[in-house]
Amino acid sequence: RAKSNKKGSFSFYNSELDKTEIMNLELELDLKRALVLEEIDVFYQPKVNPNNSKIEGFEALVRWHRRKQEWISPQVFIPITEENGLIIEIGYFVLSKACDFVIDLKRRGYNQFHVGVNISAKQFSDPKFIDNLINIVNSKGIDPKFIDLEITESITASKIFNTIESLTRLSDYGFSISIDDFGTGYSSLQYLISLPFNTMKIDKSFVDSLEIKGSNLTILNTMISLAHSLGKKIVAEGAETKAQVDYLSKANCQLIQGYYYYKPMPIDEILGIIDREKLL
Ligand code: C2E
Ligand code: MG
Ligand code: MG
Ligand code: MG
Repeated sequence: RAKSNKKGSFSFYNSELDKTEIMNLELELDLKRALVLEEIDVFYQPKVNPNNSKIEGFEALVRWHRRKQEWISPQVFIPITEENGLIIEIGYFVLSKACDFVIDLKRRGYNQFHVGVNISAKQFSDPKFIDNLINIVNSKGIDPKFIDLEITESITASKIFNTIESLTRLSDYGFSISIDDFGTGYSSLQYLISLPFNTMKIDKSFVDSLEIKGSNLTILNTMISLAHSLGKKIVAEGAETKAQVDYLSKANCQLIQGYYYYKPMPIDEILGIIDREKLL
C-alpha cells in the first residue's frame, strides 16, 4: 500500500488519479454537447407475450454514440447526467422520441403497442416535471395510455419526492406506470403496493435465479404471486434462455423482455420485425 514516504510512489498515485479525473471531465464535457451534436439516440427493446411470441410493447433505451465513434452504455453515462442535472433534458428528449415512435406506429396502422420510458429520481426533483410530461404528450397529440412510465423501485423508497402524489397525478392523467427493477429497491412492501401502478417489472437478477436454483427462486415465485393477487401485470426482464421463458410463461408472466426474444434495436429494425410479424 502507498503509505510509503518515497516521493516517487506519491507522484505516481497522483498522476493516476489525475488521469481518471481528466477522463471523467472529458466524458462530462462531451456529454454536455452530445444532444446538440445528435449523438444521443433511442433504441427500443420489444416486450413479448410468451404464449404466442407476439410483441405487445417496447422499452425506450437511450444510447450515446460518443464523438460518433464509440457507444457508451447508459449504465455509465446516466449516473453522470443524474449528477450534473443533464438527465432532465435527456429525459424530455427520450420522451419526445418515444412519442414520435408511437405516432410512427399509428401512421402504419399499429395501435396496440405501448412504449416504456425510464424516469430517474432526479427528474422528479424538477418542479415542472409533471406539467412538462403532460405538455409533451399533449403537443404530440397522443393518448398518454401508450406511454408507460418506468419508475425504478429505489425512487419510491425516497419519499422526499412525494412519489404518491406525483404518480397519482400522472396515473389520473392516463399514463401507464410500471415499477422497474422490482425487488431491488428495499422499499417497504406496504408502501410500494399503495402506489398507483399497472405493471411490475421483475428485475433480471431474479430471472437469472432460474438457472442457479436457490433462495432467489422462492423470491421470484413470491413476487409473481404478489403481482397476481394485486391484479398487476408482470414484465420479466432479461430472460435469455428457453428454460427461463418456459418457466415464466407457465407462471403466467404476461410479458417477457429479454435477449431470448430481442435485443434493443433502432426503429427501422423494429418496424421491419413488426411488419413481418403482421404478415404471419
Ligand atoms: P432498465 O430500465 O432496467 O432496462 C433494462 C436493461 O436490461 C437494458 O439495459 C436492456 O438492454 C437490458 N436487457 C434486457 N434484456 C436483457 C437480457 O436478456 N440480457 C441482458 N444482459 N440485458 C438485458 P441498458 O439499455 O444498458 O440500460 C441500462 C439501464 O440504464 C436501464 O435499466 C435504465 O435504468 C437506464 N436507462 C436506459 N435508458 C434510460 C433513459 O432514457 N432514461 C433513464 N433515466 N434511464 C435510462
Ligand atoms: Mg426500464
Ligand atoms: Mg429494469
Ligand atoms: Mg434493470
